[in-house]
Amino acid sequence: MEKEKGLLIVLSGPAGVGKGTVCGALRKEQTNIQYSVSATTRQPRKGEVDGVNYFFKEKEEFEEMIKNQELLEWAEYVGNYYGTPIDYVRQTLDQGDDIILEIEVQGASKVRDRFPEGIFIFLMPPSLVELRNRIVGRGTETEDVIDKRMTVAKEEIEMMKRYDYVVENDEVALAVERIKAIVTAEHCKRERL
Ligand code: 5GP
Repeated sequence: MEKEKGLLIVLSGPAGVGKGTVCGALRKEQTNIQYSVSATTRQPRKGEVDGVNYFFKEKEEFEEMIKNQELLEWAEYVGNYYGTPIDYVRQTLDQGDDIILEIEVQGASKVRDRFPEGIFIFLMPPSLVELRNRIVGRGTETEDVIDKRMTVAKEEIEMMKRYDYVVENDEVALAVERIKAIVTAEHCKRERL
């Protein structure tokens, strides 16, 4: 039997909710899910590696990628560009493997336009206070950037209703289990089709 196409899974939600941590924990589990590495114009944080966490680009390089239609989606977020290189996503799905995109909500809605069959998961913070504490606790952002991120986060939470699933990130291990359960359920659903 020919192998089915993989599932395109979008994990979105406000920055600081722990998308990166949850994705990192999922990655350590023995799942068959592949991870899309985004391109960005923001500066690398301490410990981030080019090609692993992001493909770090100059603004001009990023704009060239947009022009050449190399991105499945892109968005401007708090003064920087972020985008998903399309080739890796296509290859992975065509090989029959699942792929997860960890992106903010504007980008997620653009992916929805192009891949309506995708699985859209919204990662929810237990509360806004907790969200701010997490961003502050990360210690990588200035007060001004934290305030901007919180304003965006409140708008982003409004978008929750448009997602297929909402997963609370009260505890990373639990959030990971919930996402794995969703992926399993979606595979079972496709068996039926
Ligand atoms: P950070 O600067 O904290 O790494 O990321 C800021 C926001 O950009 C996060 O919400 C993150 O999920 C999102 N992001 C990362 N990569 C992409 C991408 O390729 N496209 C879009 N639209 N957002 C992204």
